[in-house]
Amino acid sequence: MEQAIADCIGRDPEQREFHQVVREFLVSIRPVLDRHPEYRRLAVLERLVEPERMILFRVPWMDDQGGVHVNRGYRVEMSSAIGPYKGGLRFHPSVNLSIIKFLAFEQVFKNSLTTLPLGGAKGGADFDPKGRSDTEVMRFCQAFMAELFRHIGEDTDVPAGDIGVGAREIGYLFGMYKKLQNKFTGVLTGKGLDWGGSLIRPESTGYGIIYFAAEMLGRCGETVAGKRWLVSGSGNVAQFTAEKILHLGGRVLTMSDSSGHIYDEEGIDAAKLAFIKELKNVRRGRIREYCDQYPQAVYVPADPVLGWNPLWHYPADCAVPAATQNEITGQDARHLVAGGVRLVCEGANMPSTPEAIAVFREHAVLFGPAKAANAGGVAVSGLEMVQDSMRMSWTREEVDTRLHAIIRAIHRTCLDEAAAYGREGDYVAGANIAGFVKVASAMLDQGLV
Ligand code: GLU
Repeated sequence: MEQAIADCIGRDPEQREFHQVVREFLVSIRPVLDRHPEYRRLAVLERLVEPERMILFRVPWMDDQGGVHVNRGYRVEMSSAIGPYKGGLRFHPSVNLSIIKFLAFEQVFKNSLTTLPLGGAKGGADFDPKGRSDTEVMRFCQAFMAELFRHIGEDTDVPAGDIGVGAREIGYLFGMYKKLQNKFTGVLTGKGLDWGGSLIRPESTGYGIIYFAAEMLGRCGETVAGKRWLVSGSGNVAQFTAEKILHLGGRVLTMSDSSGHIYDEEGIDAAKLAFIKELKNVRRGRIREYCDQYPQAVYVPADPVLGWNPLWHYPADCAVPAATQNEITGQDARHLVAGGVRLVCEGANMPSTPEAIAVFREHAVLFGPAKAANAGGVAVSGLEMVQDSMRMSWTREEVDTRLHAIIRAIHRTCLDEAAAYGREGDYVAGANIAGFVKVASAMLDQGLV
């Protein structure tokens, strides 16, 4: 196993995020490898850490002033062992091959946990949509799809949104795909409701996180109600995480964007959350504007040289990091513990550094890893694919009920698999083992391909 990690580092020494996620994963599946020597003999790990296919492409586009820009586009198709490639697209200046590979690797096992037949992929571009006009975003999406279209399809690879790619971008991407292929298919998920989208898809990641957190709390005889929650981020995941916390009677104290965070001791209620949704989704403004509307709240600008984020030092009971990778450092984790936080449920992909996870483990903080806790988004994407194939749509209640059932099943599977390998209550081990076993056995069934 150490050999698989060493090979990974040796082959691409600069891909730090990818090494981080592979190391975390491989360490927790060691007991499975010991019980199943065939996985080692047939080099399952060596195959899993090498993507089935990586597509890198040029994306040239023109801004509103006639200036020409060139970005780099990515699609990493990591595994099709259990279904067509599936995973989001991220448009953010930090995007590089390491980040897309880490996300694609996580996606393989997350998708496996959903109980649906979905392989794993991720893609995106180092394009920054911040401050760009609608027409610039449209031209970028069209240029991006002008290459991506030849690699994807409803039975091959089905992209969706992620950071920087929401309903608006999915619309422009879908329009261009349809024009180029002359086919109206469910090639993307997160589509608009009138053209193949699913009810509850926008809410699904956030709602799923809190359904998962509620299951974790339920095991200890606790509920979401009455608890103080620290939430980071203010995009799609954070918004619907906050909404479900409010539905279940919890109190949300914080939200953030890349410029800073707001802390509202009175709690962000439904009306305040509606303000944030309008601010972020329609006006595309900054979270600091919350304090113009609600002056009792505090705005704290982000300070990248600090090495820790003051958002995580407020006294609270539970935390959902829903911004981006590695946002909780070891120091942040110590602040969370000191502030009384007993549960951390990951909303973003890999938001906790390995040091932070070690701190949570040391202090017995209930810890829900992203690939289990945030699987609700891709699960409802899977349900969107089902509805598209049937050319039918389910009601809100039907989709929400299925989402809830999937999250309960994931929670149960994590606990059962952890227990089967002597790691009672360890959600990290349980999620990794359960995700892995299904993919690995499909790989063995299908031979060396
Ligand atoms: N980007 C989301 C995730 O990280 C959703 C992917 C999808 O729906 O395909 O799971």
